Amino acid sequence: MARTPSESESNGESKPRPRLLLVSNRLPVKLRQSDSGEWSAERTLGGLATGLSGPHQDSGGVWIGWPGMTTEDGAVPERAATLLKDLGFRGLGLTEEEHERYYLRASNRCIWPLLHGFVERVEFDREDWNVYRAVNQRFADTVCEEAQKGDTVFVQDFQLCLVPAMIRAKRPDLRIGFFLHVPFPHTGIFRALPSRAEALKGLLGADVIGFHTLEYVRCFRSAARRVLGVETTSHTVEYESRQVSLVAQPLGIDPTPWERPDDLPEIAGPLAELKAAAAGRKVLLGVERLDYTKGILERLTAFKELLEERPELAEEVVFFQIAVPSRVEVDAYRDLKESAEQLAGEINSRFGRVGVQPLHYQFHGVDPGRLTALYRVADVCVVTPLRDGLNLVAKEFVAARHQDDGVLLLSEFTGAAWELTEALHVNPYDIDAMKSAFVRALEMSPGEQAARMAPMRERVRRDDIHFWTRSMLDKIEESTQTSAPELIEGAIQGECMQRWSAASDRFVALDYDGTLRELQVDPKTATPAPELVALLTELAAAPDNDVWIVSGRTLDFLIEHLGGTGVGLIGEHGRVARAPGSTEIEEIATTPAPAWKDRIRPMLDNVTGRVHGSHVEEKPEGLAWHYRGAEPESAAWQAHELYQHLGEVMADENLEVMRGNKVLEIRPSGISKAHGLATVMARRSQRPDLVVIAGDDVTDETMFRAFPESLSVLVGSRASAARFRVESPAHFRTLLGLWQAATPNRSNAS
Ligand code: UDP
Repeated sequence: MARTPSESESNGESKPRPRLLLVSNRLPVKLRQSDSGEWSAERTLGGLATGLSGPHQDSGGVWIGWPGMTTEDGAVPERAATLLKDLGFRGLGLTEEEHERYYLRASNRCIWPLLHGFVERVEFDREDWNVYRAVNQRFADTVCEEAQKGDTVFVQDFQLCLVPAMIRAKRPDLRIGFFLHVPFPHTGIFRALPSRAEALKGLLGADVIGFHTLEYVRCFRSAARRVLGVETTSHTVEYESRQVSLVAQPLGIDPTPWERPDDLPEIAGPLAELKAAAAGRKVLLGVERLDYTKGILERLTAFKELLEERPELAEEVVFFQIAVPSRVEVDAYRDLKESAEQLAGEINSRFGRVGVQPLHYQFHGVDPGRLTALYRVADVCVVTPLRDGLNLVAKEFVAARHQDDGVLLLSEFTGAAWELTEALHVNPYDIDAMKSAFVRALEMSPGEQAARMAPMRERVRRDDIHFWTRSMLDKIEESTQTSAPELIEGAIQGECMQRWSAASDRFVALDYDGTLRELQVDPKTATPAPELVALLTELAAAPDNDVWIVSGRTLDFLIEHLGGTGVGLIGEHGRVARAPGSTEIEEIATTPAPAWKDRIRPMLDNVTGRVHGSHVEEKPEGLAWHYRGAEPESAAWQAHELYQHLGEVMADENLEVMRGNKVLEIRPSGISKAHGLATVMARRSQRPDLVVIAGDDVTDETMFRAFPESLSVLVGSRASAARFRVESPAHFRTLLGLWQAATPNRSNAS
């Protein structure tokens, strides 16, 4: 039985939430087995677990993930499973081989370096990928076993890229969100992955995909376009008749543990010890897992060179570097450990002397109390990864600086740099720039430190982990409201027909191409069949109908083919109109007449030259580039490039680019079908008692949105502001005929 949504009061939540199924590679729990075989479990609270555990528990949801132990049969021992269940967890076991291939190899040696842009480190192995797929499938199957109607599923990170589509294949009714906690690289890098299409399709099974930054959103969008040939807008990907939303929502932290006062014993002890080690010298601090993405060698090299140039600094500055052991079973990490230790040894032997050690390099993790003490004692926190999805250390350091002092030196290749704009940004590959940044940070005045730190600290506190959780869950929950409208059939058809026949003054606005008439590769050939002409003539003749065709076509075309039906005509996307029964042509919006077409046309001709099967159409009010006849994959890519380029070119002109169905249109801004429709409607002596709008294209969405109370019909299947939908123009023509036939003829009756 589905649970009713719970009301979450914790963490500023007052909104009822659907039940939440969380899916992550690791469960936020530590399991231990005693010598007597008894299991015990302890929740681990890190940033993400802290943020998600409130909504997880309050909604009575289930968190699905690996509890951290491998077993021979890949099942979680029964007693451990029961223990997990009591905590709201569903454990998913792995065999040793699965752990090796799915996690250590496919995830950590292939996807991790790829998404961080380290192509030369990518180790792709087909058998590893098969196991990755099989384990992802087990995650998805477990979700489907646990899922109840109306649940929200939220999948975390790159180990589970295929899970969203696998869930959707079985349970299309669920809302599915995904968050990528690492970067998304430029398309040229991503395309190196042999399983790139499968990975993208897996992710596009979600309704919402979250990233830390807009840059990652852009890169993902362009990879989807290049690899799958799908259509995209700035924040959506059109995939299998669905719109997948892409959002940039950087992960927040829980600032509270880092704000604890200095005099707590777990902080005071390490603080005193660290101050003694610093012995009055200024402190530089580095904290990270020992990973090649973190730029540790580059940073230590910069420190070494700085000491070479200014040896006296060894007396004035000390560098605390915490290198947390990570993935020690992987060769690349072992090599890095060796190189880092060698460099650290060299620095101390060359620049240290008895009683003065310039670098304190530690290859082990530290507890939160000691880490807080390190954040407090540091004058400069050096966060200089070569690539990092976000970087939590930067935010934790800022949260710990309750006096608004200290300097954050931050690599421009971290996601956090997008938010922490007041940090000193640096290119970690540029050793000279790093050296100058060290000096600049060490010499920064207290005034400047405060001016930079205070706004960052405010932001880190405000946009915390709970804010991130709320924002992501809101977006996932909203996503279902933008899915495809309801199909007109059965009871809904009866309801629509009833609305139509009950009305005595209908205002009917119909798009032409793709709505009344099937789309053709060559628009010239898409002329109306005699049956359609007869249908429109019949509709226009009924005294209680006020029928308009609202099209992107020229008025000449509309007059030639539909002028005899008696309907009103609005052409060129709302720029010109001819009222029913009139021969007078009226300009609704006046077109400025600069020579803009002469500037834009060559760009369209140029892309036409590259995309076989596309062509340019010149209209009185604008220009259109059609690519329906072209090979879809490359054309969608070219269309997007053109769209972006035109956006830049036209930034200072009073022009806009519209994306239609396989067409880009450029025209003066301010013209829209909705504006045209509203203009002719405003001339009526009274408001109609029913507005009917039908369309297939994104240009028709302006009408759907402008008349939210209307009986609006999308022809096709995709997310839309329309209330209802039908499958095709043929269905729509039949529907119109049925509605009209069922209507009492009031003029005869009276
Ligand atoms: N951290 C830790 N133990 C340590 C040092 C750091 O658990 O000894 C934590 C640190 O507080 C931070 C996280 O590890 O929350 C590192 O996150 P970040 O985003 O900086 O890098 P990642 O390791 O996720 O790539």
